[in-house]
Amino acid sequence: MAHPYHHSLSSVKKWGGAVADYQCIHDWFDESKKIIADFRHRALRHHAEGIFMAETIFGSTIKISTGRVIPVRWIGEQHVREDLGFIPSFADWVKAIRPEPWMGRALRLEDGLPATHQAA
Ligand SMILES: [Zn+2]
Repeated sequence: MAHPYHHSLSSVKKWGGAVADYQCIHDWFDESKKIIADFRHRALRHHAEGIFMAETIFGSTIKISTGRVIPVRWIGEQHVREDLGFIPSFADWVKAIRPEPWMGRALRLEDGLPATHQAA
């Protein structure tokens, strides 16, 4: 699995500049490793919506040290493709989540008790 540094080296090969030009974006994609240390961490940001989220955080483009302007979406797409081989949607990740009863539990607003604990 690629470290954010290696993703950054790959960005340098594609668009020029220095590792530091790209590192913060690649770090952001893999920051979810602090939540879960195996590859499942990717469900949080490694998908099309995650790439668009990166744009809201880093802007639609960055200016690298050579002065060249690079779309943040390109960098996100590169990262996700290098890790997964393609760009899934979040729906692709959801298909892999096994539903559990607690996920669908709802509270009745009047008394705050879980609906599963109420008489029909
Ligand atoms: Zn990654």
